[in-house]
Amino acid sequence: MVPFSLAFLAALTAATAVKLWLAARHIAHIRRYRDRVPAGFAEKIALDAHQKAADYSVAKAQLEIADTGVEAAALLALTFGGGLQWLDGAAARFGSGIGHGLVLIGGVAAVLTVVDLPLAWHRTFGIEQRFGFNKMTPRMFFTDMLKHALLAAALGLPLAGGILWLMDRMGAAWWIYAWLVWVGFNLVLLAVYPTWIAPLFNKFSPLDDPQLKQRIEQLLARCGFRAQGLMVMDGSRRSSHGNAYFTGFGKTKRIVFFDTLLERLDAPEVEAVLAHELGHFKLRHVVKRVAWSFATSLGLLWLLSRIMHETWFYHGLNVQSPSTAMALVLFFLVLPPFTFLLHPLLSFYSRRHEFEADHYAAQHAPATALISALVKLYKDNAATLTPDPLHSAFYDSHPPAPLRIARLQTYAA
Ligand SMILES: [Zn+2]
Repeated sequence: MVPFSLAFLAALTAATAVKLWLAARHIAHIRRYRDRVPAGFAEKIALDAHQKAADYSVAKAQLEIADTGVEAAALLALTFGGGLQWLDGAAARFGSGIGHGLVLIGGVAAVLTVVDLPLAWHRTFGIEQRFGFNKMTPRMFFTDMLKHALLAAALGLPLAGGILWLMDRMGAAWWIYAWLVWVGFNLVLLAVYPTWIAPLFNKFSPLDDPQLKQRIEQLLARCGFRAQGLMVMDGSRRSSHGNAYFTGFGKTKRIVFFDTLLERLDAPEVEAVLAHELGHFKLRHVVKRVAWSFATSLGLLWLLSRIMHETWFYHGLNVQSPSTAMALVLFFLVLPPFTFLLHPLLSFYSRRHEFEADHYAAQHAPATALISALVKLYKDNAATLTPDPLHSAFYDSHPPAPLRIARLQTYAA
């Protein structure tokens, strides 16, 4: 066996073992605290709501276990099982050069989507349905899927074709050109997302509650923020989970509220949630995140440019026909197990941003309103108040409710 085969197997085994261990810990921890609402929440959350959150979180963690197994099996089947080699041979019948490459990339994406299908179905019609969150019909599920696939093909194939062309023609420095194309593509996508892409999946209408609108405009003025529009999205078409977000940048910047959020929160609470989102913008979290992702992709493309001409890279993963498209596919397929252990760092960074945005929100809106909004949201979304601390440290982009609320209470006092 080639050393790289062993390195990949070791990384995959380690990542899979850690994922399973974390999920098992999480389930055990939630079950241990299932029969009592944590101190400080006893008045706000009833025992049955707490137990629903526990059962919902356990069901999601069980899905995480299945997901981990399926993912590892798919990776092994594609590499050591000869799946990629077979797909490459099949793709060769459709053409040569970039055409061959695009069929290979599309084929791998299609295989991964089909493999994930049963779990995606179970997520929506098993878990979300059982806990009363799902609003989708099977017809919508498949229409969404088809739309996503067409969109991915319309955007992804030209991008992949362009990058394959650069890899073939631009010599040793191709990775710099490819990176520039990637950055440009993402910036264009960010700009057109609110006006062209999001409306493919949801309906957006201007916020028409005059009192709430006035309140929000005052908040925006206090924070020195200009947005092009306050929109309401029909999130209730798919799910009863609520949310609010910013989208676009420059001229297309707008604020979007899920209709489900406006239904559940009163005006001061909506204002406080928005103040939190404004915090992410004002504290440059969004810009920092985009900058980090661009820096990471530059590093990854450079790394790919170093290893794509090494035979060990292909043979180590049981591929006998090296090509630029194969290099691209292999690289992004086998990268996650090697980077999995960096997850806690990213999550930590994200949770720090959440605390900072909460702090900002507390300066521009009453902290008590944000606290009551969070309690409602955590309760409505059946988010557990008692996650396993290690599982949370690894994955959670948002701090668990008790920590967040405890810190907000110090601002409110
Ligand atoms: Zn946030």
